[in-house]
Amino acid sequence: MKPKTKFQKQIVAASRKLAKITDAQIKWAYKNCIEHIGQKTSKGLITCLECNHSWTDKEKKAEHCICPNCKIKLKIEETRKRTFLDYEYLCIVTACEGFQVLRFVYIECKMKKGEAPRYFDMEVVQRWIAPNGKPLKADSNYQKQKKRRKFRPRAAIEPVNAHLKSDFRMHENYLCGERYVQINALLSATAWNLKKWMKNLISWLYNTTVRYK
Ligand SMILES: [Zn+2]
Repeated sequence: MKPKTKFQKQIVAASRKLAKITDAQIKWAYKNCIEHIGQKTSKGLITCLECNHSWTDKEKKAEHCICPNCKIKLKIEETRKRTFLDYEYLCIVTACEGFQVLRFVYIECKMKKGEAPRYFDMEVVQRWIAPNGKPLKADSNYQKQKKRRKFRPRAAIEPVNAHLKSDFRMHENYLCGERYVQINALLSATAWNLKKWMKNLISWLYNTTVRYK
C-alpha cells in the first residue's frame, strides 16, 4: 500500500526506526506459546517431541508432565499419530517515535516423532496507535468528544485480537507456504475493516433517510 495521508506517511517514516524482533523474544514464544507434546503409546511409553527422549510413565492419568531430559512442560496425548502441528500469534506491545505499536508474529511448530521439531516465525501485522488520546481541559465539548472517540481503539485492542481469531478466521491458517501466512492475516484484517465500513455505511444511510422524512 502506498502511503497517502499525512498520518500514513508519518507511520512509514517511523516504521523504519522500529527495532527488529529479537531472538530472545522468539525463543520465549517458542517456549511459552506453543503447546509441546508428549506422545504416549497404549503401553505407556511417552516420547518428548521436543528432544525425542522417551520413558515409561508410572502414573496413568496425568494430562501434563515435565520432560526429565529437557525439563519442558508437555501435554500428554495418547495417540498413534506421529506428526503434530501447533501455531499461535504472538503480540508484542512496544512504543516507537511516540506511537504505540502492536506487532503480531506468527509462530508455528511442526513436530514429528524421531525428528527435531521445526520452528517457523514471521511478523504478519503491525498496528500503530497515535498518541492523541487524553482530552485537555481547555478543549471544547466537541473536541473532547472527538478525542474520546479516537481514544476508544486503545481500550478495544484486546477484543479486536480475540474477534479476529474467532470470527475472522485468524485462528488457523488454511493457506500453504510461508508468504501465505501474511496473506491470511492481511485478509482477516481486511474483512474486519470492511465490516466496520459497512456498519458506518448503514448508520449513515439510516441517518439520511430519517433526515429526509
Ligand atoms: Zn524433552
